Amino acid sequence: MGTTTPLGHFIDNRAVPGASGRTGPVFDPATGARTREVALASAAEVDVAVAAAREAFRTSWGTASLARRTALLFRYRALLDERRDELARLITAEHGKVHGDALGEVARGLEIVEVACGIAEKLKGQLSTGVSGGVDVASIRQPLGVMAGITPFNFPAMVPLWMFPLAVACGNTFVLKPSEKDPSAGLRLAELAAEAGFPPGVLNVVNGDREAVDRLLAHPDVAGVSFVGSTPVAAAVHRAATEHGKRVQALGGAKNHMVVLPDADLDVAADGAVGAAYGSAGERCMAVSVVVAVGEATADGLVARIAERARALRIGPGDDPASEMGPLITAAHRDAVAAYVAGAGGQGAEVVVDGRGLTVPGHEEGFFLGVSLLDRVTPGMDAYRDEIFGPVLCVVRVATYDEAMALVNASRWGNGAAVFTRDGGAARRFQLEVAAGMVGVNVPIPVPVGHHSFGGWKDSLFGDHHVYGDDGVRFCTRGKVVTTRWPDPADRGVDLGFPQHT
Ligand code: NAD
Repeated sequence: MGTTTPLGHFIDNRAVPGASGRTGPVFDPATGARTREVALASAAEVDVAVAAAREAFRTSWGTASLARRTALLFRYRALLDERRDELARLITAEHGKVHGDALGEVARGLEIVEVACGIAEKLKGQLSTGVSGGVDVASIRQPLGVMAGITPFNFPAMVPLWMFPLAVACGNTFVLKPSEKDPSAGLRLAELAAEAGFPPGVLNVVNGDREAVDRLLAHPDVAGVSFVGSTPVAAAVHRAATEHGKRVQALGGAKNHMVVLPDADLDVAADGAVGAAYGSAGERCMAVSVVVAVGEATADGLVARIAERARALRIGPGDDPASEMGPLITAAHRDAVAAYVAGAGGQGAEVVVDGRGLTVPGHEEGFFLGVSLLDRVTPGMDAYRDEIFGPVLCVVRVATYDEAMALVNASRWGNGAAVFTRDGGAARRFQLEVAAGMVGVNVPIPVPVGHHSFGGWKDSLFGDHHVYGDDGVRFCTRGKVVTTRWPDPADRGVDLGFPQHT
């Protein structure tokens, strides 16, 4: 395609070209072609977006009725529903994931818009009448003001949709800073919000890198920050935002374990592991990256079944309906993932399936890597310790349930964890004992539906609130308690004491 005008920003419902003179490359991962440039905002450009959001909060949105906000969200939901395919194609073109998976991403994002359509129910508040003579007490929740969202490359539509629909439903205005690797989906989501009728300034997009993020974290008019990305950046974002007095939720990386007990149906477990490990080329924060097999017979049976399925996967460009898995996001990331496979072999793991050396005919320059299966991995190996974020599945063999639980709970991350078993008692024990925020029982990727909340424990989340669901509403609002008394003129008098409720 060749390079065209750089993708810019979207502020006050208008496309705004970049002015910093800095741009970053956007690739088609399936061909390796550099298809676009994206503007990287300066601090001054971030300030323009925040000013637009602040003005919208002050003049139109902060006081817009629930009925108006809800009506616009319903229109937005309908528009997104119509444009599922278009959004999925944008995702595939810049991220690389296969079309069906991209459609799934849009569907899971749409779920949160649907929850936002019902915001009236969530913002009802509470009222206690007659707590004392003629006194009523109401608890209400109010928006924070301007909120910012900083999102990763791996879900360029879904993760922004985890954030801004609930934020604006609650009455906030929003500045989104999408990943500079695949910025088009985020921009399109904002254009569609404008098309649905959201007033200028309610949802703004600033493209950029660390410079833009640093400004958002320091800007005095940004009241709350949602971040999703890698653990080191999540920790730094949480620190900086907190230092600047902002409310912040920062979701980080993961290393999700799937424990398979000896009584599990090994075919069902192998199907689950293959989908969860290699779907979206392993570039999912809820991907299963470690299978913990309890017992040698379980491990042998599982490894054979996973290997058979892994070797049969069809890898190719995301827009080819025959492809089950697409390329990785960049050449550098593909090479880093491949290095873990090489390193694991050197450190004593058994490389049962080796994905290195794959070429996809006609797409020789694409960022493809085949899938890898590493058996007899131990906790000291790099492939176990680090988040690889690619199509590499480690198998750790343990002897007992207790050993499996100790291994999972020693991980620095605690995003998702799954158990495969037919034993209800063991499953119940697992869900209570495991140190992870999202647990699957015979479900390999337990991403909560939109009316529950998403978030991990330990180094997978910095902050107190998970995203979307009820936690999302709490994060996007702050509480106020109003105590009201309409005094009876007959009941007057000065009293310096606290009420004694007599
Ligand atoms: P990343 O941390 O590199 O980037 C995330 C965002 O932060 C991007 O918008 C990027 O521009 C910005 N950023 C990057 N470096 C920065 C810096 N030094 N200072 C300030 N901002 C910076 O993550 P990524 O590679 O885009 O995404 C993959 C990571 O995200 C993986 O670790 C994955 O596990 C994680 N992730 C987590 C979840 C979750 O819900 N916990 C969901 C999706 C992805």
